[in-house]
Amino acid sequence: MSTDPHTSPRTGSAGSGAVTPPSAVPASPTAPAALITAAANRPSTARPPSVAAAVRPTAASSVPPHPQAVAELHDLVIDWFDDNARDLPWRRPDAGAWSVMVSEFMLQQTPVSRVLPVHQEWLARWPRPADLAEEPPGEAVRAWGRLGYPRRALRLHAAATAIAQRHGGEVPHEHDALLALPGVGEYTAAAVASFAYGRRHVVLDTNVRRVFARLVSGTAYPPNATTAAERRTAGGLLPADEATAARWAAATMELGALVCSARSPECGRCPVASRCAWRLAGSPAHDGPPRKGQSYAGTDRQVRGRLLAVLRASREPVAQSALDAVWHEPVQRARALDGLVEDGLVEPLAGGTYRLPL
Ligand code: SF4
Repeated sequence: MSTDPHTSPRTGSAGSGAVTPPSAVPASPTAPAALITAAANRPSTARPPSVAAAVRPTAASSVPPHPQAVAELHDLVIDWFDDNARDLPWRRPDAGAWSVMVSEFMLQQTPVSRVLPVHQEWLARWPRPADLAEEPPGEAVRAWGRLGYPRRALRLHAAATAIAQRHGGEVPHEHDALLALPGVGEYTAAAVASFAYGRRHVVLDTNVRRVFARLVSGTAYPPNATTAAERRTAGGLLPADEATAARWAAATMELGALVCSARSPECGRCPVASRCAWRLAGSPAHDGPPRKGQSYAGTDRQVRGRLLAVLRASREPVAQSALDAVWHEPVQRARALDGLVEDGLVEPLAGGTYRLPL
């Protein structure tokens, strides 16, 4: 790994002339204008500007950005990160890009605490993509354990196979090459390029979107789906040089995870509280569309999880009767099993038995 944004000190600041990868965001020509405009005009002893006015008008405004105000924001968040970042295996200096990629697949919809043991076992068993590619996809599903959304295991196996076949076994550096891997979307490509290789990309996960919604837009939560306006805001705030951009991506994500949490933001210990649009507006309640719930009990997801648990525990094909025992409702049980087969997570065999895919 050439650069580790989770552990490396910053090597530059906003506004420095960096080489921008083709897939990355252009270096800040439309950066957060209002923050910026306010900063440009205020005396040095004045209260720091809200980021609100700074960033929101950016898409439509021709007001030039003020690099100093944006750089101050970077410094506050990155300095906080230097002091508060969690020591996670995929952030350590000796963690390779494969460790980062595995963590990104696992963390997409699963908390860190549940990912940690599975990630450790995964890397111990398959320290390189080629090691995973040599085994059947069913072994990836088995090792995925109870992380949930097990199609991610199949996708990670497919990505490992492509890396072994097309990239000499090395996780590619470039965003476009990452994006071309099976199961890798825009977020994962940007995250791996940024966190593993120190590249400059907008990395917009749920935590970062929430931080920007509050800090910049003054709303309690971001929209249910990522919008173009959010991407413009994030692009405008992205530091110009690669190393700082990668550090900023990791730092804003950590701020959202540890301080600016969904249900109870701890503004009292937030490094940018004095500039936060939502806080300065009195922390108004959410008035947008209802937020998606995370129900599990009684859902097909729960039934699928139980069926897969039986199959993961057995090295031999499993009889239908063993699967029937895990859920009382036959129609829902059949639907869940059909879904697993359709998704390629389970193989039906002659004689009415089932197994994980080979
Ligand atoms: S001040 Fe509060 S709401 Fe604003 S970014 Fe910080 S933790 Fe989030």
